[in-house]
Amino acid sequence: MDAGFSITLPRQAYTVAVVRDILDTLLSRGGLCRECVDDILLAVSEAGANAVEHGGPAPDYTVEAELGPRWCEVRISHTGRAPDEAHLAERFANDPVPLPSPEAESGRGIVLMRYLMDEVAFQDEPRTMVALRKRRTACDRPLDSPPPERSTRYALL
Ligand SMILES: [Zn+2]
Repeated sequence: MDAGFSITLPRQAYTVAVVRDILDTLLSRGGLCRECVDDILLAVSEAGANAVEHGGPAPDYTVEAELGPRWCEVRISHTGRAPDEAHLAERFANDPVPLPSPEAESGRGIVLMRYLMDEVAFQDEPRTMVALRKRRTACDRPLDSPPPERSTRYALL
């Protein structure tokens, strides 16, 4: 089953938590495991915070999520200009990632996104956009086996 959605929010700091709440519900109910959902939420928080902070002069930013059988993809985009786009694109593409200095907030965010996700991509046209992809097949349990913690939890009740 494929599902997709898109939401556009004002570039205000509180909206990053709104995106997190919506994605949490969407991805959990869509069948992703807790670990994957948490990784995605953290990566999206970084990208969302960057959009809020550096997305000017765009009044808003857009979050699109696609949930397929093999991949989950979340795209965060806006019409503003990212600072130093060429350098930024390089940071998303180059391997291995040099660890930025502690002062380089956005640089560390990119390292974190790459660590948490299976793939990240950056584009600056037509919109400044970060794409975050998580492979669903890496963690999906066989359909027949219940999560291991379930029997313990019931035993405690
Ligand atoms: Zn998972």
